Amino acid sequence: MSTVYFSHPDCLLHEMGEWHPESPARLQAIEDQLIASGLSGLIERRDAPLAAIEDIRRVHSEAVVESIRNHLPAPGETGYFALDADTLINAHSWRAALRAAGAAVAATDAVIAGEFSTAFCAVRPPGHHATPDASMGFCLFNNIAIAIRHALAVHGLKRVAVVDFDVHHGNGTEATFLDDPRVLMVSFFQSPLYPYSGEYPNGERPAHLVNIPVPAYTRGDRVRELVQRDWLPALHAHRPEMIFISAGFDAHREDELASMGLIESDYAWITRQLVAVADQYAKGRIVSCLEGGYHLSALGRSVISHLKALAGLA
Ligand SMILES: [Zn+2]
Repeated sequence: MSTVYFSHPDCLLHEMGEWHPESPARLQAIEDQLIASGLSGLIERRDAPLAAIEDIRRVHSEAVVESIRNHLPAPGETGYFALDADTLINAHSWRAALRAAGAAVAATDAVIAGEFSTAFCAVRPPGHHATPDASMGFCLFNNIAIAIRHALAVHGLKRVAVVDFDVHHGNGTEATFLDDPRVLMVSFFQSPLYPYSGEYPNGERPAHLVNIPVPAYTRGDRVRELVQRDWLPALHAHRPEMIFISAGFDAHREDELASMGLIESDYAWITRQLVAVADQYAKGRIVSCLEGGYHLSALGRSVISHLKALAGLA
């Protein structure tokens, strides 16, 4: 089993102000842990290409593309433009967003071509809150949704799964695949919490959306129970030809943007369950993209646990 790691220096240039938790330091924290863990020499690294507009447009309306491109501060300009209260763009954001989506697409191509079993995209801006019609919640383009549409449209896959273990509800991914039962989505998310969506009070949840709200202070043992009770039966029933992961690490006990209690070994355990499903139905194929995770040390350590499990090293 082999694993490829996609990233790009352009992803460090997008920033939204010193106060903002979604900062370039996040990728540097992951890089530090990659070196400290010795994992750096065991996985292949590739630079993320720029996504094609055609890739973006499989998920997003022209308005999303234009709202970023038309409001981009000029090169050399130091200001920001606010797409919403906490989603800003600087002069480098357009290229960073194309690299983030491009990583997800290139990772999908490399894994489907059989070059690697699994891929991790250490990219920002993140993606899972971006809906077909709006950038929001620190996210410009929905990187994982773009990769999935690419896998379906270009590679002709018939059934895939997207697993979202970020602490926030992946509203953008859910909105993208609401009417597409080829895509099984499984997630847990703290509720109530931003973006205050994902609850189905009248039981109207479509069968292919297994998104489970959990209260604050939920810990890893409870999450593992839910994975076994709800995620795994749905995944086995769906028999995905490929698994995509929205890998957010903000459900970590040390992360202050939310109040859940996961630790590194929980991320490793969840990842091993997904690797087993992928081995059974999907030739081991997994593409994972970074979403949230804002405590720098906890983020770096958790990504290493996730990566080791993806690479079959733990
Ligand atoms: Zn999050």
